[in-house]
Parts: sequence; C-alpha cells; structure tokens
Amino acid sequence: MTVEELIVEGKKYVHSTFAKMILADLLGVSTLELLTILNQKVEDCFIPLYLEKIQKLKENKPIQYVLGNVNFYGNSFFVDENVLIPRFETEELVENTIFYINQLFPKKDLKVIDLGCGSGCIGITLKKKIPFLDVTLLDISPLALEVARKNANNLGVSVSFLEGDMLENISEKFDVIISNPPYLCDAEEIDSLVSQNEPPLALYGGEDGLDYYRKIFLKAPSCVSSSFLIALEIGENQREAIVTLAKTTFPAATIEAKKDLQGRDRMIFIFQR
Ligand code: GLN
Repeated sequence: MTVEELIVEGKKYVHSTFAKMILADLLGVSTLELLTILNQKVEDCFIPLYLEKIQKLKENKPIQYVLGNVNFYGNSFFVDENVLIPRFETEELVENTIFYINQLFPKKDLKVIDLGCGSGCIGITLKKKIPFLDVTLLDISPLALEVARKNANNLGVSVSFLEGDMLENISEKFDVIISNPPYLCDAEEIDSLVSQNEPPLALYGGEDGLDYYRKIFLKAPSCVSSSFLIALEIGENQREAIVTLAKTTFPAATIEAKKDLQGRDRMIFIFQR
C-alpha cells in the first residue's frame, strides 16, 4: 500500500491528522515530509503496526501513549501508561525556573530535586539546559522511574534517581526543589481521555488537591540550603492556599505567583538568596 492509501484507510477510523502523525512517526519522517511521499510504497512490515495504533486511538487512548513519545521543550520523551503525559504548562514552569536560577544563582553548582518526576521531563530538561546542575529525579513509582531512566539515557544526560514519597526520606539539602505534583481534587470531573488512561497516582492530590503541597512544605525547611528556590506547578484555583502554606513555612522568603500563557494562576516560586 502507498502512504496515501494508508492515510485514507486510517481516516476511516480516526481524524486524518492523527492518521498522518502515526504513519509519519512509524516511517521516521515529519508530517510535512509525509505529504511529499504520498505515492511511495510502504513496506509491508509497517502496515500491521500502523493499523494496531489506529485501533488503539479509536479505543480512546491518548495519541502520546499511542506514539510512545511526546515533544517537551524541544526534546522527544518516551511516555507510556505509567507516567503523566507532559503538558505545555509544565514547559512554562521549566522556562520560568531556568530564568529564576540564572537570576538568583548564576553559574553556581546547584543541587536540584524534581519531586514526582514521572517521565522525567522537568529534571532532564533542566539538566540539558543548565548542564552544571546536579539533578536528582524522585518518584514513588518504580515504573515511572524506569521511564525517567530511559529518557535520561535516550537524551544523554547524567542525573540521579531516587524512589520515594516527595521529601519524606530525604536527609540531604537541595538548592532547588521543583515539582509538578498531582493536584486534582479527588472528586474533580475530568476528561475521560485523562481519567481512563493516565495514572491516578500522578493526577489526584486528595480531597482538596493540596495533599502533596502539604507534604512538600512539611519537610522542605530541613531539605533546603540557606539560599534556595522552590518552584511549583499548581492548579488554577490553588494559588491562595499554596501562597499561605508557603508564607507560614518560609516567612522570610520571597513568594511570586505566575500565570500561564492563558492567564491562569499556574506556578509559584518561593526563594531566598
Ligand atoms: N513531573 C512530571 C510532569 O510534569 C510528572 C508529574 C506528575 O506525575 N504529577 O509531567
């Protein structure tokens, strides 16, 4: 079958954009390049793989799990059902954190910990962008840590890994703590594509969604150096509660909340020089 014939076949079941994405990914070309080889014959071995992926998508699987990868901050991260699919908002958390690190601690050797690292997208991107950082990736799920390890290998970065529940068993001190913890309220109604596919452990943060922030702040004072940065992604209605938690925990620190590109409260930075 040709590329065009396969796209036509895929379009019977899923949107043509997805059919093209799946085929392009299998053939190792971009979706734009795919359109320049419409008459090319596709090797038979690709056809069952292509149809299997179309079928998965039809069964309400997210395209990122079907492809097995997602672009985050310009790098391709492997993802599967054991990790949250990295989101655009989290790229903004990373971008702002890079800015804060450069402003607050230029050129310093810093110890950084990414709590609840999932795919590792945050910590690995930080290490790629600021190579002198000493980065630890922590997650409670060994299966998520396996994914993060795979991504660190694929992207050629050297980082450390720890299994644990936030800062619970941490006895070292870090200069930067960064986290996109699970922050949905247990009862929150969410898109079935998310609730049926992404790991609940990566999504829900208790009755009010704040359980993991409370855990972080409980232990943070003994886990940060005298000057530090804590960078947190938050749910859009959680700013006030988390600023209060931060102020009570670190009365002398500066606390800045930031909005994402859509104008929603999505990040909190707490720092002390
Ligand atoms: N740190 C990962 C991410 O931002 C996973 C976060 C999570 O599982 N809540 O994508």
